[in-house]
Amino acid sequence: RPAVVWFRDDLRIADNPALHAAAESGRPVICVFVWDEETPDLRSPGAASRWWLHHSLAALAESLQGIGASLTLLRGASESTMAHLLTETDAAAVFWNRRYGGVERRIDEAVKTAARDAGLEATSFGANLLFEPWTIRTGQGTAFSVYTPFWRACLAAPSPRKPGPAPRSLRAGSLPSGFGTVELDDLGLLPTHPDWAGGLREAWIPGEKAAHDQLRSFLADDLAAYKKERDVPGVDGTSRLSPRLRWGELSPHQVWHATNERRDHSTAEGASTFQAELGWREFAYHTLFEHPDIATVNIHREYDSFPWPRLHPSALRAWQKGRTGVPLVDAGMRELWTTGVMHNRVRMVTASFLIKNLLIDWRHGEQWFWDTLVDADPANNPFNWQWVAGSGADAAPYFRVFNPELQREKFDGRGDYVRRWVPEWDTGEYPEPIVDLKETRQAALAAYDAVKRSR
Ligand code: FAD
Repeated sequence: RPAVVWFRDDLRIADNPALHAAAESGRPVICVFVWDEETPDLRSPGAASRWWLHHSLAALAESLQGIGASLTLLRGASESTMAHLLTETDAAAVFWNRRYGGVERRIDEAVKTAARDAGLEATSFGANLLFEPWTIRTGQGTAFSVYTPFWRACLAAPSPRKPGPAPRSLRAGSLPSGFGTVELDDLGLLPTHPDWAGGLREAWIPGEKAAHDQLRSFLADDLAAYKKERDVPGVDGTSRLSPRLRWGELSPHQVWHATNERRDHSTAEGASTFQAELGWREFAYHTLFEHPDIATVNIHREYDSFPWPRLHPSALRAWQKGRTGVPLVDAGMRELWTTGVMHNRVRMVTASFLIKNLLIDWRHGEQWFWDTLVDADPANNPFNWQWVAGSGADAAPYFRVFNPELQREKFDGRGDYVRRWVPEWDTGEYPEPIVDLKETRQAALAAYDAVKRSR
């Protein structure tokens, strides 16, 4: 009787505890990915993420083939599809690595209960976070709502486990004949008409192998200067590992320990700063665990009374297309559209501009990022949007409005970044801003007063 491994946000064969458990069981192994557009309220990946997922699944299938297994693709509601698979294959065990969103946890709980009721072994593993959310608690036993003490508590907790290797070989389990599998192309994850993914193809090679190459070259070339350069969008100073971590092509454990192995007197500062950024990812996930509605509901509920003016679709469109007349904002939005990512500093500036100069509800921006980022992440994206909006955990105070012109002067003084994405910027063809930065800032602060009064 086979063991089933259910892949989700962990598209790798190395340091994959669920796959490892299946290999150790000595049973034939069935590896499966379920494309679920049917479970109500389960957030489906956006268009750029689907592009990534397609290629990452292709790479995973190839890696599995290399160790004697194959990747089965199924389509349908996760709970019933998994139940059907486990029954029809007469599986003895099912293994997976945990997810932390609300709907995802409910699905996993239901599959686990049904499998155990049917006499199967059903085990889940912590694989995609350095610290499980329920292990990092305040003295009162509650979740942290402020980053600095949170990260201090993480660093005082037992160190993240060492990553494990990929299984050397597996015995592939088989499906009954006529079982309804689908081909990768049938999932329709790639754009067709029009094919807008040219920029993504140029910028990225999804998959576990490329992820390791990228980690190695970041640590060798950029770790030492990371602290200094991470905030400069015109410099390639960050790891660009976010889609790798989002899709689990790399585990945070692999990144953590590889960073430690590179630690010496010249890299120590960069290594600690970089690991603290991984800490923000942990904090975002722990916050998601506490606030499963993070993508739609303000963490600080007093922001529910924020008097958002009527939406001007043309302003939202100008922002999405990078045509606001504000150079750093336009550069960021065009980088996002072309490459599927945006530098962190510029994400903060473009988000602040949408919320506090265009006075557009953060949820519209979060949704656009969700659709266009290849690293669009169920925790990091809404967490950071709420952070900029002021409504989130340990958020920037609302009255801190980024001035996009000062930010450009400070972080892109020579204009390298802006010129790369907005070549018409200093040609005289570039338009005036669609809003007055000073006036809109005042309007945002006045609206914020309404929130304060409602407290
Ligand atoms: P590095 O500087 O090399 O950092 C290493 C890793 O640490 C990143 O890959 C990421 O996993 C993590 N990290 C870094 N900064 C943050 C942060 N502020 N919050 C959480 N984790 C962080 N990140 C996403 O992964 N997915 C998103 O959907 C996402 N949406 C964002 C939306 C907004 C409005 C903002 C302001 C930030 C968002 N971020 C998101 C966080 C951050 O911008 C990206 O993680 C970072 O730019 C990725 O580049 P990098 O891998 O080169 O980062």
